[in-house]
Amino acid sequence: MILLRHTVSGTLRGARPARSLSTRASAILSSLDIPVGAAELPGVYDGQWYGSGDVLESVCPTTGEVLARVRSATPHELHEALGKSKDAYLHLRTVPAPKRGELLRQIREALSAKRDVLGALVSLEMGKIKTEGIGEVQEFVDICDYAVGLSRMMNGRVVASERPGHTILEVPNPIGVVGVLTAFNFPVAVYGWNFLLSVAAGNANVWKPSPSTPLCSIAVTKIIASVLEKNGLPGAVSTLITGGKDVGEAIVESRDIPLVSFTGSEAVGRVVGKTVQSRFGKSILELGGNNASIIMPDADMPLAVPAVFFGAIGTAGQRCTSTRRLYLHRAIAPQFLDALQKLYATISVGDPLVDGTLLGPLHTRAAVGIYDDAVQRLRQSGADILAGGKKYDHAALSQGNFVQPTISVPKTADPADKIWSTETFAPILNVGLFDELEQAIEWNNAVPQGLSSSLWTRDIRNVGKWIGPEGSDAGIVNVGTSGAEIGAAFGGNKSTGWGRESGGDAWKQYVRWSACTVNFSNAAPLAQGVDFST
Ligand code: NAD
Repeated sequence: MILLRHTVSGTLRGARPARSLSTRASAILSSLDIPVGAAELPGVYDGQWYGSGDVLESVCPTTGEVLARVRSATPHELHEALGKSKDAYLHLRTVPAPKRGELLRQIREALSAKRDVLGALVSLEMGKIKTEGIGEVQEFVDICDYAVGLSRMMNGRVVASERPGHTILEVPNPIGVVGVLTAFNFPVAVYGWNFLLSVAAGNANVWKPSPSTPLCSIAVTKIIASVLEKNGLPGAVSTLITGGKDVGEAIVESRDIPLVSFTGSEAVGRVVGKTVQSRFGKSILELGGNNASIIMPDADMPLAVPAVFFGAIGTAGQRCTSTRRLYLHRAIAPQFLDALQKLYATISVGDPLVDGTLLGPLHTRAAVGIYDDAVQRLRQSGADILAGGKKYDHAALSQGNFVQPTISVPKTADPADKIWSTETFAPILNVGLFDELEQAIEWNNAVPQGLSSSLWTRDIRNVGKWIGPEGSDAGIVNVGTSGAEIGAAFGGNKSTGWGRESGGDAWKQYVRWSACTVNFSNAAPLAQGVDFST
């Protein structure tokens, strides 16, 4: 993403000529009702589309083509949009929850009708391969289903009172306006996780997407807006404010936003968490992962090898749940690495929109630099590079951010070493050898992050240890599988932020809880036997 600052407001507007776009890009954009060839697109929606702030450029990571220029909000426009969101909340909270569910059902239908082309836009703008782009939109659709059901099941509780003729209710009420700040790597689904539960709960939402994926957010907002408008509901139920750090900071600091859900890096999450806490707001933090797979000697190799291959290379290593650390039992390490290297050698790299491509580009040029630095650090520290380790240099890939997926065996398995303890958002897999499961679990847990983890074994005793109190301390603890589904609460522990989204009890964070004691009797006794009679 390139953020262009303009010094004289409005000088760029209208001055830019119409743009010509490749047919590859224009076919996708026009199917999603995004004007093709417009000099600039408005990047703010609160019932109307506008924006006269900074310009964001959406750059295709595969070809380097500038897909669009998008106008963010000025500080004044941002303030106006937040005000509209508050008004939208005041309206939405009076709509019965099952009626909100019906709205979400319609959004599901509208989104599902555009699933494949929206998935293609994810591939075009973010760079993940088509099947993963479509899968990301499917995730949004799945959470729609989940939220529709939830809209009739967001139940409180009736609690026994110690006082005669009294009853106690725990009541979930909407919380207000929810700020949703998202990362580049899931430019559609993460908003879905938040928006859908939040609307089911009765809240309005303000979305600030990654500044490098504005088109995905515009396309999704257009679909949601059409359904809101059809139902006579304020568009600001789903406000969009594209922009960079400044917009993010304004949302995080706003006292009109009681809940901020932030998905992104640990570094930014640390600042966001502190700022929200300092004004006594609530936050949900979904931050970086540094995920390990542990392979025991009794693992089913034909399943484990391809699973690690997908875990490490899927989305070109740009998933928060990407496998970055591979702990192999010494007894099977040579054969496992041999099979894995053979798979790495077969990877088909190229345009993520082409069927059969398994490896697309990194999202930005800057990410290529981060990959290069990490590989250089590995080499300097004496690591064995078993695969990859550099950029692709054939001409067909030269315009994009393509890097070779890398397997390295660092000199040390010390989890405190920076090689092991930091998240490098690129397809680099570090391998360590262990002799006992306990040692592997200790290494798994010894890093600051705690998102996802996976054990490959057929021994039930290992499974018991792994998922119990002496096991993995991550939020996601898999056995013999990879990836996550929407049904369970998604999120990580420790420096991953302790946030939970999507399934499970995640919805309970999007409401304010009221403990309501109601006296149906003709007396008003105090609790705990306190006597205050006069
Ligand atoms: P990032 O932290 O650079 O940016 C995330 C968002 O924060 C963007 O919208 C950005 O504009 C905004 N932002 C930047 N500075 C800000 C500030 N000072 N105040 C408020 N907002 C600010 O992250 P990224 O590079 O877009 O995404 C990659 C990271 O996200 C990785 O670390 C990845 O693991 C993580 N991630 C985590 C999950 C999860 O569920 N745990 C999911 C996806 C991505």
